[in-house]
Amino acid sequence: MSVPTRSVALVTLGCTRNDVDSEELAGRLSAEGWTLVDDAAEADVAVVNTCGFIEQAKKDSIDAILEANDLREHGRTQKVVAVGCLAERYGKELADELPEADAVLGFDSYADMSSHLRAVLDGHAPEAHTPGDRRRLLPISPVERDASELSVPGHGAGDLPRARLDDKPWAPLKIASGCDRRCAFCAIPAFRGAFVSRRPSDVVAEGRWLATQGVRELFLVSENSTSYGKDLGDLDLLEQVLPELTTIEGIERVRVSYLQPAEIRPGLLRAMASTEGVVPWYDISFQHASGPLLRRMRRFGDTDSFLGLIEGIRERQPEAGIRSNVIVGFPGETEEDVAELERFLVGARLDVVGVFGYSDEDGTEGELLTDKIDPDVIATRVDRLTRLVEELTAQRAEERIGQVVEVLVEDVDEESGEVSGRAAHQGPDVDGVTLLTGALEGVEIGAFVAAEVVGTEGIDLVAEVLA
Ligand code: SF4
Repeated sequence: MSVPTRSVALVTLGCTRNDVDSEELAGRLSAEGWTLVDDAAEADVAVVNTCGFIEQAKKDSIDAILEANDLREHGRTQKVVAVGCLAERYGKELADELPEADAVLGFDSYADMSSHLRAVLDGHAPEAHTPGDRRRLLPISPVERDASELSVPGHGAGDLPRARLDDKPWAPLKIASGCDRRCAFCAIPAFRGAFVSRRPSDVVAEGRWLATQGVRELFLVSENSTSYGKDLGDLDLLEQVLPELTTIEGIERVRVSYLQPAEIRPGLLRAMASTEGVVPWYDISFQHASGPLLRRMRRFGDTDSFLGLIEGIRERQPEAGIRSNVIVGFPGETEEDVAELERFLVGARLDVVGVFGYSDEDGTEGELLTDKIDPDVIATRVDRLTRLVEELTAQRAEERIGQVVEVLVEDVDEESGEVSGRAAHQGPDVDGVTLLTGALEGVEIGAFVAAEVVGTEGIDLVAEVLA
């Protein structure tokens, strides 16, 4: 007698690193006989892959769990399981406060997710874990790393299945997980753990597989790509892996995310600029520009060193897209610090800047600082910086009018006829898009189209397809 298949839906919140984890969980579950469905209402189990990054992300994750819980009344859904960063970070505490979730499972459960879900369906929910500080895994020398069982959350060693949960022509490809830095505002290292690189052979193998699935652009993700290889005893490993990825048949673009300014090496910048297929796109996590404030944040650099870095990139690649995030309202931030950040932003002419207001994160050094900034002052500074950034990034987009861009088509709206995609300097999801005009017949998702920029809408470009 055949065992009836059980169905599962993955609801993913947060960043592209979570997207990869969901696709890998989907691959494992599918290999174990689960039927994957898109709609949580059609699934026996809804697995909500949560984000635990900032307050709003936590709230969105909890809302998604509550929504999945509501499906029990109307849909097929019998069980709701929380995984991901929020689950890892709060474990038992989350389980106690959120009885709507039948189970709360941390990263260590990923390797055996199928049996956990079967147990949950059979009414035997595994105990939620008590979160520990995953930084205790430090330090990992290359020798220890070789002998250790450590794996990247969502990725074990070797050849693991991954199932695609969308049909976009780009896909995130995780190269590492965790972070060894100690930024005072950030809780990521405490729950993502020490920095662990995936082996180049695994990364390249997954890149090849993604190419067979129609992916044209690989988006390399991690918490800190500049550290790639250090735990494998080779700090130049990213420079060596990039040419291997760009020569995979079907892959036209490789995009490297999250560069840590303190760790950017001239050799890496040279390799990124000179490896054909690596897009001229630099995602540099500046966070602030005032030297004294950066030191309080436990970070390096200042306005002048950052401007020098940007100048070096633009000398080689004037068309490069450069994006960053900044935090305002960190404890002790003065008006002078804010003015210094403005000086940097005006000088840097970045393509995209995310402005975030500081909020205390559990278990961080920032939480313990006493000279907190009033929330109203933080909101005012966020507003002020956001307005400045909107003006500067719109100007930067306008500077591209007249340039020819290569657009990866990502969206073709049959009804409106609108076709859009991303130029090389535009990263996925948050960097704006390029709206194509002109001869659009036969243009399909996944195609590369050359177009001349004829206008802008904020950071979005409008470009006319070239004959
Ligand atoms: S480098 Fe990034 S992930 Fe690591 S502690 Fe700093 S902000 Fe957090």
